[in-house]
Amino acid sequence: MPKTAVITGASSGIGAASARALAADGWHVVIGARRVDRLEALAAEIGGTAMELDVTDQASVDAFCEAVESCDLLLNNAGGALGTASMAEADIDQWQWMYDVNVLGTVRMTKALLPKLVASGDGQVIVIGSIAAREPYKGGGGYNAAKHAVAAATRVLRLELIGQPVRVSEIDPGMVETEFSVVRFGGDEEKAAKVYEGVTPMSAEDIADAVRWVASRPRHVNIDQILMLATAQTSAQVVHREL
Ligand code: NAP
Repeated sequence: MPKTAVITGASSGIGAASARALAADGWHVVIGARRVDRLEALAAEIGGTAMELDVTDQASVDAFCEAVESCDLLLNNAGGALGTASMAEADIDQWQWMYDVNVLGTVRMTKALLPKLVASGDGQVIVIGSIAAREPYKGGGGYNAAKHAVAAATRVLRLELIGQPVRVSEIDPGMVETEFSVVRFGGDEEKAAKVYEGVTPMSAEDIADAVRWVASRPRHVNIDQILMLATAQTSAQVVHREL
């Protein structure tokens, strides 16, 4: 019987690419996000199961996780950033959304699926963090705070699960061209495109390659943390552009 991988935020970007990669490796993928039409198209393409999921809504998380029969891998990927306001101009609603989707979303999903992950006998939790979890940058306050919190919670989980059959891994990407920047800039595609101007960023498939590698290590190997950057990026805001 194929193993089951649950992937949050699979309607786009890294989540969708990871669903494709894991399905190609023989996993049964259960994919969740709010945009169900996209999920259903992807599920039809790769033979997975699509279900509506809002990780900021406890009732939605409960319904989704109850419908998951068994779970061998949870990829906590749903998340994102809003805005680039300075601390002086911090938008509390944006901070609240970033904390809810990135941090509490990861906690809600992990807590709900942990019994099934333990019961699998060889469970794995993979969290998509960010370089923003390791390095504060100007204008990144809310996202930095949220991703630092995600990293802290992930590392606590790893500590607490020692001796139990669940591995815990964190993959922290730098710049990846997805819908991330369009969301961050409130739908402003021109502003989002400028982020990738003159540079070859990583693709969602590059991160999915790391996910599939982490997911396919033997059970005695836990990949704790991976930081992966585009060659042209050496730090959150140090990017070489060929303009
Ligand atoms: P993306 O293309 O915008 O994808 C984000 C995904 O999260 C979408 O599928 C979205 O689906 C889902 N999502 C957002 N809110 C959700 C909610 N409340 N409940 C369920 N799903 C929700 O961006 P991405 O780059 O692939 O982002 C994936 C992860 O990588 C995020 O955690 C992001 O912070 C992280 N990351 C991205 C980059 C980058 O440069 N792109 C770098 C480092 C880390 P719906 O809107 O359909 O719900």
